Amino acid sequence: MKTTNMNARDAEFIHEVEERSGQQVVRCYQCGNCTAGCPYNFAYDIPVNRIMRLVQTGQKEVVLDSKSLWLCGSCQSCTTRCPNNIDVARIMDVLRHMARETGHASERNIKLFADTFLESVEKHGRVYEAGLMASYVAQTGKFLNDLDLAPAVLTKGKLSLKPHPVHKREAVEEIFLRFREKSKQ
Ligand code: SF4
Ligand code: SF4
Repeated sequence: MKTTNMNARDAEFIHEVEERSGQQVVRCYQCGNCTAGCPYNFAYDIPVNRIMRLVQTGQKEVVLDSKSLWLCGSCQSCTTRCPNNIDVARIMDVLRHMARETGHASERNIKLFADTFLESVEKHGRVYEAGLMASYVAQTGKFLNDLDLAPAVLTKGKLSLKPHPVHKREAVEEIFLRFREKSKQ
């Protein structure tokens, strides 16, 4: 079993999470309500209440290495259920960003899917499904993934073979540009 050295407390990490999320992690008293309502808990390596505890104790490496950050669906159920009004989902978002920035992205394919999705939106103004699938498959080598779904999505018109026409596509590009400029500051 993997053990955690609770004496190795990274105070800067706690401060950064609190500052970026606008939440006070110290208010969490480990009632477990967030985990009880989390629909992805079955797949998590660390339940969301334990993530909160690990943040409180400054366990930066353990938290940022967690697969849970990448499996979280940002559904906000944890936030809604927290009796201390902590925006737990916001903290999960912040941790995911921090993991990405510091090269801790443990679930490579999920990160790749998110990146490919955003590239498609930037390029076409909204997601171009067939292009997204081709790019994702090419980068992961998972050629047979979900192939059985292809006939159903094609016959229901859910998979356009051409990008969708988008009014003012350049406005979406500008959003991405603004984000990059802001990230540099
Ligand atoms: S936001 Fe993430 S951690 Fe919170 S309940 Fe939803 S899936 Fe679970
Ligand atoms: S619901 Fe709130 S107080 Fe309870 S464990 Fe989760 S974050 Fe902590």
